[in-house]
Amino acid sequence: MESYQIDIQGTVQGVGFRPFVYALAMRFGVYGEVWNDSRGVSIRLNATMELLKDFIAQIESQKPPLASIDAINFYTIEPQNYAKFSIIQSQMQNDTFALMPPDVSICDACEAELFEPSNRRYGYPFITCTHCGVRYTIIQQLPYDRANTSMGAFAMCAKCHEEYTNPLNRRYHAQPIGCFDCGPTLKLRDKSETLSLSQSQIIDRVVQMIQEGKIVAIKGVGGYHLVCDASNDEAVQTLRKRKNRPHKPFAIMVKDSDMAKQLAPISSKEEELLLSKECPIVLLNKRNTQHLALSTLIAPDVDTIGIFLPYTPLHLLLLKALNRPIVATSANVSDEPLARTLEEIMRLVHVWDYCLDHDREIVNGCDDSVVTVVEDSVLFVRRARGYAPQAITLPFRLSQKVLALGANQKSTIAIAFGNKAILSPHIGDLHTIDSIAYYRQHIDHLRQIYNFQEDIVVHDKHLHYESTKYANQLKMKNEKLKVLEVQHHVAHIQAVRLEHGIRGKVLGIAFDGTGYGDDGNMWGGEFIVCDDNSYERVAHLDYFKLLGGEKAIKEPRRVALSLLFECYGAKVLDMDNPTTRAFFPQELRLYYRMWYKGLNAPLTSSIGRLFDGVASLSGIVQTLSYEGQSGAMMECYYDPAIQSCYLWNLNDGKIDIKPMIKMMLTQSDARVMISKFFNTLVNIVEQIAMCYPYPVVLGGGVFHNRVLVGLLLHKMGKRVSLPQKLPPNDGAIALGQIMQGYRAI
Ligand code: ZN
Ligand code: ZN
Ligand code: FE
Repeated sequence: MESYQIDIQGTVQGVGFRPFVYALAMRFGVYGEVWNDSRGVSIRLNATMELLKDFIAQIESQKPPLASIDAINFYTIEPQNYAKFSIIQSQMQNDTFALMPPDVSICDACEAELFEPSNRRYGYPFITCTHCGVRYTIIQQLPYDRANTSMGAFAMCAKCHEEYTNPLNRRYHAQPIGCFDCGPTLKLRDKSETLSLSQSQIIDRVVQMIQEGKIVAIKGVGGYHLVCDASNDEAVQTLRKRKNRPHKPFAIMVKDSDMAKQLAPISSKEEELLLSKECPIVLLNKRNTQHLALSTLIAPDVDTIGIFLPYTPLHLLLLKALNRPIVATSANVSDEPLARTLEEIMRLVHVWDYCLDHDREIVNGCDDSVVTVVEDSVLFVRRARGYAPQAITLPFRLSQKVLALGANQKSTIAIAFGNKAILSPHIGDLHTIDSIAYYRQHIDHLRQIYNFQEDIVVHDKHLHYESTKYANQLKMKNEKLKVLEVQHHVAHIQAVRLEHGIRGKVLGIAFDGTGYGDDGNMWGGEFIVCDDNSYERVAHLDYFKLLGGEKAIKEPRRVALSLLFECYGAKVLDMDNPTTRAFFPQELRLYYRMWYKGLNAPLTSSIGRLFDGVASLSGIVQTLSYEGQSGAMMECYYDPAIQSCYLWNLNDGKIDIKPMIKMMLTQSDARVMISKFFNTLVNIVEQIAMCYPYPVVLGGGVFHNRVLVGLLLHKMGKRVSLPQKLPPNDGAIALGQIMQGYRAI
């Protein structure tokens, strides 16, 4: 018999790993000890080599449901004297790389107890165990122990303590456990004060308020939601008005998958996602909802609806009692980080009537994740709660620490050290002082948790991005810091190469809204051949002028007008089509001068903008109220029976779509025009891909379009790799920057 140490790395803390090892040791009858340290879980035991190997095999095959193992190493140590097997206190080390476990939805065992009248936690809105509940959002510091979380503020009662310290109990070391006697409690407040109500009265009252059409802010796992009755037109309309969100679809929460099926046909893959422990919002094809009690204002003018199921005991209690769908949208100002403190939700006091609050602090904000399924492939729209933070194994080992700052919209950040990168959840757009402050706070917090100090900072090439400004400030403070800028679309492509483990050359196709190009123009329709060391832009959508720069992003009619000027010059002033009709004659003349002289009209090759232009030409929308609106609306017009496409030319790497625009003017049926447009994009991809013998990878926000992605997967099959663990949009940029960043070493 010898003494061995086993070191396990991965998501092994806060997931019931030590009690699992303890129970395993009991079964094997071996003596020793197990503990958490900042690198993971370590075990020491006395055993024969044969027994040790069996033991390790059991760890790998039987690990707890929320655990994932990246590496197990074992080695011989000095002989130890053990008289039993025990779980010992956490030990700290300096080189922290244990992973923070993500938050997961309530497990079946806890749900059963929640609705069991004889259980002491019957109706307790924070019931949890080792296999479910909050994790990442309450962590202040690793290792993941109660004292290092916001649950440290709650002293356990004797009963909870007994469960917490019994290795054979389901709640052994479940850091967030509590009960009516000792855990977090609910509070209900109106705009000015807390109402005096008992815990069970609070739930009843909130249910009643939602039924009455009130808007309630509800504190959840990673922030607050704004909630109202999804079948009440007036309530939904009020929420839209107060949130200044006229059209962007709202996600709805329903009590179970049966209710979801009444609202949308659901494939088995989609149902699996709805019911998964990550519990994301799943974008589903809407049923024709005329006959159903769902407000038509939830997701106007689009084919999809975002649905998710209750993922906390609190949501379950509310939804069971309500027995109807609710709107549950992030409490934020459009696309900014969501409110997670009372102070932040008070800033939205004009939006809600009541606030269902609780006293468990949210340390790390985390939005709901959003996914969709296209041709059986899962696409992330937003990667956050349940999935984040995410650790990614790099195909190389870094000798220095890299911080990647992402882009400016749908911000995420990544830190990398050794052969690991850690990607933050979706943070939001960096357009306000508050969101920028939150972004910086998030970086500081990651540094603190991982005891991380970067040697290299990687940022986007865009001079005016907040992330770029932050990189420059870091450089000013620390002369030794290496700073590297990475072209936006190269980062998009590199992120997908990393995700798919592609080591060689690829033909990267970045269809995007915007991104600063190497020539100073706004790129976004790029074909880039790249590997680890270099890249070459081999083709791109031919430039056109964005009339009014940034302003054109919200006005498809400006994009279409510019495309028309490219084709017909001043003749456009006398044309009659949906685009010209969207302007006054004097405006047309003004924009023509702007276009002709190139005043405030930067050049772009953006496919995102091309979508806008086509939406305007077809007459379906002229001005937008949210990002991606034209693409989402155009999905409804696609007709698979229309197989033909428009003409286009490739001149010296420039994709000339003028023939397409000209032909569109002869088409009055939006359905035909839009279907042929989608087919043309696919044709462009297919034709250019034929010229390069490399795998094709797709990145950029345009690849959220379900029709486009569906067509490409259908036509090109396995030859194309899509981002699947990461979103196609700028949420993946930070990881792509890490891929480029290691070249700076
Ligand atoms: Zn549980
Ligand atoms: Zn208790
Ligand atoms: Fe982008």
